[in-house]
Formats: sequence, structure tokens, C-alpha cells
Amino acid sequence: MLPRSFQYYAPATIGEATRLLREHEGDVKILAGGMSLIPLMKLRLASPGHVVDINRLQGLDYIKESEDGRALLIGALARHHTLESSPLARKRVPLLSEAAGSIGDPQVRNLGTIGGALAHSDPSGDWGAAILALRGELTVLGPSGERRISIDDFLVDTFTSALEESELITRVSVPMPPERGGGGAYLKLERKAGDFATVAVAAQLSLEESADGYRCTYAGIGLTALGSKNLRASKAEGCLMGRRLTTESIAEAASAAEMECAPTDDPLRGSAKYKREMARVFTRRALELAAARARGRRGGPAG
Ligand code: FAD
Repeated sequence: MLPRSFQYYAPATIGEATRLLREHEGDVKILAGGMSLIPLMKLRLASPGHVVDINRLQGLDYIKESEDGRALLIGALARHHTLESSPLARKRVPLLSEAAGSIGDPQVRNLGTIGGALAHSDPSGDWGAAILALRGELTVLGPSGERRISIDDFLVDTFTSALEESELITRVSVPMPPERGGGGAYLKLERKAGDFATVAVAAQLSLEESADGYRCTYAGIGLTALGSKNLRASKAEGCLMGRRLTTESIAEAASAAEMECAPTDDPLRGSAKYKREMARVFTRRALELAAARARGRRGGPAG
């Protein structure tokens, strides 16, 4: 099917883009990588009369450290592949590069953007879980100025975010994990290469060495395709925070994640029961890998 005819704009400045969004509010869509919007328009599940292409906006595709070094700042137009291959992201927040590398295929990763993916708020999308695990936040710009929204408040429901139609995501930022004792992993179960997740888990840990082993000072766990939106496994995080990290505490956290997720049966990717079990297995594996990386014991893409 072809999309309905629409008016196309390619503004050169953010000011012009927000003016267009305000002017056509109710009948407008932002176009970034187009990897989700174009299929929706072709299926006529979205039929905006006006499309604002933000690809010509300068300076929205950066990945950099904040001035005080405490956060990684990502422009909304950073492509999945840019995050997958960024030396800074790979070194300082490897969970992000690992999640980016798991998205779709090279074509999708070359065009799709982190801002577009989060705005799309697909519960099977990989970015939401990764940003939840890192307790990131989004900066959005709209008619009443700029506001910052934590990822927990941003993700509202299936394909629904806290974004107003006249607002543009400009930045995603995540606290920088400690160079020593920080480790993350993104593990995805997929039917075949390039598929959306059947189940995926993002885990980020900070560990401190103590007389009786390693104590967990930070635990972030995000779940993909396990509910009506990307979920924070907060009970699972609670099983780890402030406690000694052991095989038992990891197993306890994995069981908590299994209990707090809410998957649905689907004919393609399996029953809710199967997905729950996979939530437990993948949470345990992701935590084990994140812990090994935090202890500096194993390399791999998320080093
Ligand atoms: P677009 O398609 O341009 O826009 C998506 C939505 O976000 C639209 O509503 C648009 O108006 C809005 N939007 C875009 N940018 C902004 C902004 N800066 N501010 C506010 N609103 C904005 N995703 C995964 O997570 N995992 C996968 O495994 C995966 N596999 C895929 C496989 C295929 C074959 C395809 C086609 C897509 C796949 N995707 C997957 C989706 C892909 O990641 C998309 O890139 C992403 O969902 C949307 O990003 P985009 O930049 O293409 O946004």
C-alpha cells in the first residue's frame, strides 16, 4: 500500500522544526531514520498530512562525555550503528553498543536513530530496556521550552510515550558507569538474526570488592518484549542492591524478574509461559555476564 499524500518539510534548524510541529499539531509526524514511521505510513496505520524530516538538523548526532564527565550525552539523531561502533560508548558504556548491535540488520542500524526508537516506544524495541538499566533521561524541546524526562516516566505504554506531538527529543543522557567495578550486558533471544527480541535483558552492575566478596552498589535491569512496554525489573534490582553478589542472589533476582514481567502469548515467538521462563534464564545470564565484566574477568564486546 502507498502512504496517503502528505506535505514534506526538511527544516535546517531546530527552531524551524518546532515551529512546524506546533503549526501542524494534530496532523504531523517527525521523520528520523524512517525505519518505523515509513512502514506504518505504508500500512496506513499512521497517515499524517505533514511530515517534518529532521535529518538536516545539524549537531544532533553526537556521542560525547558531559563536561563534568558524569554522563554520556547522545544526540537524538545518533544512528544505531554509530552507537554500536563509537569508541567512547564501547569503552565507557558498552551496554549501549551491545544493545545497538543487536538491533535489526545493518540497513536498519545505519538509518534508525536512538531518538526515533525511543519515541516509537515499541515494547519489543531494544533501546528502552538499555536506557532503563542505565537510569537514563531524555531531553525534549517543545513550544513551552525544554524539559527532561526520566526514562521511567517517558515510557508510558505500548507505542505510547510521555512526548507531546509538538515535542522533539533532542538528547538522551545516561550516567557514566564507574570505570572500575562497572559492567553491563545486553542479551537477546531472537528467532533468527535480525529479528525483534523474543525476550531480551539489559543488566548494568557496579560492584565493590569487600572482605567477603563483591558487594553490589548499583543494579539496573531492563526487560524487552516482556510487557506492554520496556519494563524495569525493580524487584530483581532490589534483590541485588547493597547485597553481596553471589550465585544465590543472582538466581533470586532472576526469579523476581520472571515474576514481575507480563508477557503475552504470540503465535510467532512463543507462549507467555515460555517467555517468562526465558526472562529468568536471560536475566541470570545477563547478570552473570555483567558481574564478570564488572570484576574485569571477561572481555567480549561489552568488555
Ligand atoms: P522513525 O521511523 O523516523 O520514527 C519513529 C517514530 O518516532 C515516529 O513516530 C516519529 O515521528 C518519531 N520520532 C523520530 N525521531 C524523533 C525525535 N527526535 N523526537 C520525537 N519523535 C521522533 N528496533 C529494535 O529496537 N530492535 C530490532 O531488532 C529492530 N529490528 C527492526 C527490523 C526491521 C526490518 C525494521 C524496519 C525495524 C526494526 N527496528 C528494530 C526498529 C528500528 O530500530 C527503528 O529504527 C526505530 O524503531 C525507529 O527509529 P527511526 O529513527 O527509524 O524513527
